[in-house]
Amino acid sequence: MQLSPAGRFAPSPTSDLHLGNLRTALVAWLMARSTGRRFLVRIEDLDADRVAAASGVADRQLRDLAALGLDWDGEVVRQSDRIDLYADALAHLPTYECFCTRREIAESASAPHDDGYRPYGGTCRGLSDAEAADRRRGRPPALRIGAAGASSTVTDLWNGPVTGLVDDFVVRRNDGAYAYNLAVVVDDLAQGVDQVVRGDDLLSSSPRQAWLIGRLGGGAPQYAHVPLVLNQTGRRLAKRDGAVTLADLADAGIGADGVRSLLGHSLGLNQPAEPISADELLARWDPARLPREPWLYG
Ligand code: GLU
Repeated sequence: MQLSPAGRFAPSPTSDLHLGNLRTALVAWLMARSTGRRFLVRIEDLDADRVAAASGVADRQLRDLAALGLDWDGEVVRQSDRIDLYADALAHLPTYECFCTRREIAESASAPHDDGYRPYGGTCRGLSDAEAADRRRGRPPALRIGAAGASSTVTDLWNGPVTGLVDDFVVRRNDGAYAYNLAVVVDDLAQGVDQVVRGDDLLSSSPRQAWLIGRLGGGAPQYAHVPLVLNQTGRRLAKRDGAVTLADLADAGIGADGVRSLLGHSLGLNQPAEPISADELLARWDPARLPREPWLYG
């Protein structure tokens, strides 16, 4: 069955959405709705420990999106319900077991990227069966994809071309959890997502993900990475920055309507404190006018 095109918002339910996440969600919704796409919400809850420590967050995230007037199509899917899909995809990919500790990875890797990501140096790629059996007695293996030194380029709507070397990244962690970089691609393909709008902290992951989509027989989506929201010290906005979630802001006297207006203003769509509905924002939305600088808040 051919799925109609879709955009999506895919939060990890590990903490309540803050203004930066809400702004990205709004942009994702505006992008999907202004281009006639379905808008999907997917809960990325594969990291069982972090999710368990943050119970109730996913429900609050959905409630917050609805309070801002962002609607979505169909059921919200949860990655924890889709393990078979990831296992099936993995069975079609070239992988190998990796026994490296964090420290070994750091020692073998080339210099970390700007975002701190360390491309894997390939230490376990050539292990013989006997060596692997021996190492398996010490620690359970992660699975890495054999990318054979590929390189991949995506063209981001706001950031232009981004080229990245594709290292042998982890597709299943050594605790058995499927890795974000695998699951996100499998789900986007399975759900017909052809427009990926998200925070620009994930920009450098997109060449890797686009390459994997190709390996799974799909075409790369349109990528559109939104500048992050920074606090006054120039750091990425975080919960410790004070009233940054809808609940905190409501306590400070700014309801969901006020937050929508604040976010719309940060996108150049309305005057400060101008009451505005989600549909009015949609009518005014023009992706070419998205501010390319991070939004300073606080
Ligand atoms: N779940 C990821 C996050 O919350 C986003 C994944 C994506 O949009 O590709 O950071």
